[in-house]
Parts: sequence; structure tokens; C-alpha cells
Amino acid sequence: MTKRLTYHLLTLGCAKNDVDSSSMAQLLDEAGYHSTEKTNQADVLIVNTCGFIGPAREESLRYLRELAARKRKHQVLIAAGCLSQLWGPRLADAVPGLDGVIGTRRWMDIVEFIERVRASRKGAPHPSPLYHLPTEADTVGEDERGAQRVAVQGASAYLKISDGCRRPCAFCTIPIIKGTLKSRPPELVLAEAQRLAEQGVRELILIAQDLTDYGSDLGLRDGLAQLVTDIIRVAPSLDWLRLMYAYPGAVSDRLIEVMATNDKVVKYLDIPLQHAHPATLRRMRRPSNMEWVYRTFEKMRTAMPELAIRTTFIVGFPGETDAEFEALLRFVEEMQFDRVGVFTYSFEAQTASGHMPHQVPREVAEARRNALMELQQRISLRKNQAFIGKTLTALIEGTDASGNISIGRTYRDAPEVDGLVLLRGCIPIGEMLPVRVTGAMEYDLIAEPLGAPAIAA
Ligand code: SF4
Repeated sequence: MTKRLTYHLLTLGCAKNDVDSSSMAQLLDEAGYHSTEKTNQADVLIVNTCGFIGPAREESLRYLRELAARKRKHQVLIAAGCLSQLWGPRLADAVPGLDGVIGTRRWMDIVEFIERVRASRKGAPHPSPLYHLPTEADTVGEDERGAQRVAVQGASAYLKISDGCRRPCAFCTIPIIKGTLKSRPPELVLAEAQRLAEQGVRELILIAQDLTDYGSDLGLRDGLAQLVTDIIRVAPSLDWLRLMYAYPGAVSDRLIEVMATNDKVVKYLDIPLQHAHPATLRRMRRPSNMEWVYRTFEKMRTAMPELAIRTTFIVGFPGETDAEFEALLRFVEEMQFDRVGVFTYSFEAQTASGHMPHQVPREVAEARRNALMELQQRISLRKNQAFIGKTLTALIEGTDASGNISIGRTYRDAPEVDGLVLLRGCIPIGEMLPVRVTGAMEYDLIAEPLGAPAIAA
């Protein structure tokens, strides 16, 4: 009997990478491979890397080097993902012992690529690494080889509706890594949403680099609003439908109406603004019409008074003056966001901002980040405290190490990036139940289950 080959797949980076890993794992499983958690038992070691910013690249390199150092004679080590696409052969130079580099635009070729790499190792005393790095932006649509574009975590699932991005943001490597926008055909997305709902998924999270651009390359108008409407129609058993990430200037009136009038769409929007001073935004090559921001946020909050808004900002972008940063602080104070992520600018040589003058010293950027985080922590605490005594619905995701505290999320929290709700007792994963908020911290809530929840075994 032929031995089934085993693979160990390590995923770094964001939820979009989780989806690519799930798709590769599906293709490998269908080809007869067997997955293992143990690196020493795997024939094939795959690291799905992240290359978005410097610290993420460092982490990817660290894992690759560790695996290369421990690699056994019969094992092959393959780098996939964003860093592979961005660096190509440079990655093999940086990681001695790497056997293959497959770019993120060709994740669907993983099975054939592994076969080629393994064949090239046979009998070769010092085999060179192999590369598979096509540059055309054809990662999605008709070339997915039947792989699902989903990653399931407990009762939640991420569903990728497009890949790539056609925006010109000066600091961002994504268009270089992924290519321009490629929307997946609506019928594929709907079939996957329906199947996930039938499998018992309670929360479906639609993800893309720019969700609000969905369908523009397919000739669709208001493609996202239509897709959301259709998902709710074909997958009525879903409890929550969450949208991550909207682009400023692209949230249409129709989308606001669809969000406001459908109970299943959680009243939560992640809309990265990146800055609030028009001059900084213009240098970032981002929409700089702050009038639009004020007008649209007011519209959204009027239509959905309970709306939780998450946004992210970059501080220390080249040329950011004290006055520009202070304008950002005032804006955050004024807008009272529910969730804010703050990043210091990451220098990326290949991007337009890598050549800009007046790079801000690291210590200045870090001080600005701390100041903005402290401001937001005060806002977030006040907002959380306002929920004490109120009833919310929580989706349970697990327990703490003791097993006596259940951990869940409310509609105000997306997985991994936002806060949690902590409940006494051991409640089964996937349970959705009403809870009364009894305490608040800067990020998390403490709550008591209402009624008698099921007790987990
Ligand atoms: S919209 Fe997002 S992914 Fe696209 S270029 Fe700008 S920052 Fe990058």
C-alpha cells in the first residue's frame, strides 16, 4: 500500500490568508494528502506567509528559518503567501534550506507544485529551490479549481468575496502582492454561503481587501448591497452577517439601507479611514473629502443608532506634522468610534510612500500611536460602561484555561481584532444567548447569561 503523504500547514497574517490556507488544505486533502499538527511527522512543510508590513515579514522569516533548521532529510519546505509573492527568489536567499516558493496568486497550484519540488529533490545532492510566481492577477473566479474560499472557526466563517485591490494607496503593498481587484462570481459566493449555513455556521463574515468595491470589475452596480440581500435570501438560517472592510467614499445609500433593514446584518462596520487630515490623506492617495466622512457617518448612525464603527489609523506617515496629528486626535474625540486600531507607518520601499521626503522618526510615530491609543481607550471604556445593565446577544467561542469562564463576542466585536464578553460558567461553543452586561473594561465586557444556558460537557 502506498503511504499517504502528510503536510503541516502554518498560517500567518490575516483572515484572508486563513481562507487561502483552507483552500490549499482542501486541494491537498482531495489529492490524498493527510494533514498533521506535528512538524516532525510531515513530509511537506508549508508556511503561508504574510508580507504586509515589516514586523509581519520578520515573523514569517523567523518561522521559515526555524523549520529549515529542523528540517529532516525526507522533508520539503515550501513558502506560500504574500511574502513569497513579494520577494520571490529573495526569500530563498534569506532562508537557506527552502525548497520551493509559490506566490499567493497561484495558491491553487499547490498540489502540482509540491510534486515538482519533491521530484526535483530526488537524487539531487544540492537541489536549487523551485519557484512558481506568475504575475498575472488571476487568483479568483474561474481558476479556483473548485476550492471553497472559506475559513471556519467555531460557529463563525470567513468567506472571501474578492481578492486584490485597485485602489492607489501610497503606503500599501497589497496591489503589488495580489494584483488588481478580482471579484468572485456571485453564484459561487451564494452557493458557499448557503452550504455554510446548512452546516450550522451562525456568523458569516464577508471579507475582501475592499468589500465595497465588490463586483465593479464584473460590471455590477452596488454589487455588495445586492450580494448581501441575496445571501440573506439563500441562507436564511444564518444569525449574523458581518461586513469587513469598507472603503471611505464607497459606502452607498443602498448599502446603508440594506444594512439597516435586515436584522441578520450585524450593525457593525469596519471602515479603515487611515487619517483625518485632508493633507495627510492626499499624500496617502486616499479619499480626502472629510465632508463625505461626516455626512455618511451621520447617515449611518441615524439609520442604525446602535451601529458599532471600527476604524484604523496610520500615524507617522511621511510628512505628518504635529498639526496634522492633532487634527486626527480632535477627529477621534469628536467621532467617538467604538473600536480603533492604530498602526505606526511601516516603510515599504516598493510603495509610493517609500520615496516620499520627511519620513517621521520612529520615536515620534510611536509617541503619537500611544497618545491616540490612550485617547481611544478612554472613549472605548465610556462606551463599554454605557452597556452595563443592558441585554445583548453573545456568540460563545470557547472558555478560559480554567474552563469556568466562557468567552464570547457580541455584534460589536469582530473575531481577533475587537473585544470579548466574559461569562461565568462553561457554555458550549456556538451557543448564541442573551446576556446582561454587569461590568466593563476598556476592550471587554463582563456579563451574566440570561435564563439557563446549556452546560458544556
Ligand atoms: S484600499 Fe486597502 S488594500 Fe487597497 S490599496 Fe488601499 S490600503 Fe491597500
